[in-house]
Amino acid sequence: MKHRRFGSTGREVAIVGQGTWYIDEGDRAAAVAALRCGVEAGMTHIDTAEMYGEAELVVGDAIAGRREGLFLVSKVLPSNASRSGAVAACERSLSRLGTDRLDCYLLHWRGRHSLQETFAAFDDLVRDGKILSWGVSNFDVGDLDEALAVAGPGRIACNQVLYHLGERAIEHAVAPWCEANDVAVVGYSPFGHDGFPSTASAGGRVLAEIADAHASTPRQVALAALARRAFVIPKASTAAHAAENAGAGDLDLEAPELARIDAAFPRGPRPSALPMI
Ligand code: NAP
Repeated sequence: MKHRRFGSTGREVAIVGQGTWYIDEGDRAAAVAALRCGVEAGMTHIDTAEMYGEAELVVGDAIAGRREGLFLVSKVLPSNASRSGAVAACERSLSRLGTDRLDCYLLHWRGRHSLQETFAAFDDLVRDGKILSWGVSNFDVGDLDEALAVAGPGRIACNQVLYHLGERAIEHAVAPWCEANDVAVVGYSPFGHDGFPSTASAGGRVLAEIADAHASTPRQVALAALARRAFVIPKASTAAHAAENAGAGDLDLEAPELARIDAAFPRGPRPSALPMI
């Protein structure tokens, strides 16, 4: 599993991590096994959120007794992101996760509370050792400019944004902004949430051909292509899926293969607003 510096935190974090949205909806024991299998295969970055129902409880079960070495991330809902509300929300997440600290805590998306207030709460949480760093999610360039003006340089660890082969909007401005300001880009829904290209489609065939050349799979090829520009956090409910996804963290694609993928899944024009799900 390759690692890369996670923005201004300076931490080396696995380029392929694990999402947890809806992980609480199926077989809980299988979900716990999937997360553990993923961690053992190197996917030590685990992403969750207070919004994801009981996902934090599933993660808590999966990481019980094995917290060291993880990069654990959760998110506060915008409606809870006041100065006192964000602190209370974080404490509830810590309790559900059964841990005393998060490696990074994110504002899930922008809401009615001012960034001054939310970031002051994050600073309180850092001071008290409850979070080690903080970042944002679903922030477009205008939001990032505002956040930087409020926080100052070197303080926003990451921006977690929608990024899959069918949705490359962040490549226009958000990803370059983040790179210039030492903010890690975390790509969510890297398989398109529920729309991974089938091998019956032209793009799916390109992925399958490249996968064959590396004795890998189309999903591994997709993750490896996205991981050029972002940390990726696929969600898997089974150990087999988690093991497959982790394999992308060691896959090296050649420049002509990456060019083929880029051509098969064109970036398209810059949308007027940053897409999110
Ligand atoms: P995703 O990771 O793009 O796709 C998940 C789907 O892919 C699930 O149906 C999963 O099935 C399937 N899958 C995973 N590995 C597979 C494999 N190797 N073979 C076949 N199928 C496989 O979707 P996502 O959950 O929306 O996004 C990932 C994570 O990003 C979320 O879980 C969440 O942590 C985060 N996220 C953040 C935001 C935000 O606003 N910040 C928004 C959306 C998502 P199984 O479950 O059956 O394995």
